Amino acid sequence: MHADALEGLYYDGRSSRSHAVRVVREAGLLCVGGADVALRIPLDQCRLAPRLGGAARKLHLPDGASIELADSPRLDALLGAAPGRWLDRLESRWSLVAGALTAIAVICLAGYLWALPWGADVASRFVPESWQQALADSTLDTLDKAGFAASRLPPARQQQITRAFADWQQGTAHPPYRLLFRRNAMLGANAFALPGGNIVLLDGLVEDARGDEEILGVLAHELGHVAHRHVLRQLIQSSTIAVAAGIWFGDVSALATATSTLVSLRYSRGFEQEADTYAATLMLANGADPRRLGAFLQRLENADATAPDATDAGALAETYLSSHPLTRERMDYLARRAREAGLPPNP
Ligand SMILES: [Zn+2]
Repeated sequence: MHADALEGLYYDGRSSRSHAVRVVREAGLLCVGGADVALRIPLDQCRLAPRLGGAARKLHLPDGASIELADSPRLDALLGAAPGRWLDRLESRWSLVAGALTAIAVICLAGYLWALPWGADVASRFVPESWQQALADSTLDTLDKAGFAASRLPPARQQQITRAFADWQQGTAHPPYRLLFRRNAMLGANAFALPGGNIVLLDGLVEDARGDEEILGVLAHELGHVAHRHVLRQLIQSSTIAVAAGIWFGDVSALATATSTLVSLRYSRGFEQEADTYAATLMLANGADPRRLGAFLQRLENADATAPDATDAGALAETYLSSHPLTRERMDYLARRAREAGLPPNP
């Protein structure tokens, strides 16, 4: 009888019956003995399963057999000083597991960063126009019920803006769009694109603008989102994530959340860049200075930061900048386009 013998349960890998055994090590061999078990197995053919928090650990033997042993320092002592190859194999398996986990993380990240946006882009090209229109109509309907009020801008002023923006499209290829005027105290100075080419312009934005070039600049940016189908792509992406999360967590209500966040969609930097490129090109083509768009956004941002209710009600309000974050990069880009077009240093 060995003093360092360990007691365990042996499974032959074919039946679920367990056999009480004692396990000892003799040189490079693992000796397993019990009432109806007598084995001598080279240690380098045994593999201890990773520790998984339980009290028992599994020692895998050749041919699918295994032994369940209590996890204890004695188990480590029994196997720890085994020939180097055994340890090496265990360690290489661990690095294999770590490598596999890293690979899975990288694949998920790559999927999130590239495959998902790419898939959403492709998918958005196949969404029928009628579906987009239906989505736009129902979204607008929801928004109108949820607190959007009719614009208080005089009809003549609405027409003036609509016509000025239509004039900007003269002679250029542009996606079909429809400009809608609404008012909402919470969203204040805001404008956004909906699927199907609807662009909603809120009174607050018209009131805060210094000159129509600023308003048209924002509309040009929104039309850029329309032209690149950003809303639809973003929706497909966030819905995919929500559905995947829903399946994973068994909660399908996540899907409803995805569709209700239309207004607060935060565009990616790439989308913002594309919309700014579109806006700057359209502005320059119409003799407007892209820096006016930048200056307006900057002013809106400063107003946000100094608003007295910035901490309470302001935190709930979705400002234009929360869905179109203004970055140094965007300001620099708009300034560069103005410079390249030969506009004087100060707008
Ligand atoms: Zn934007």
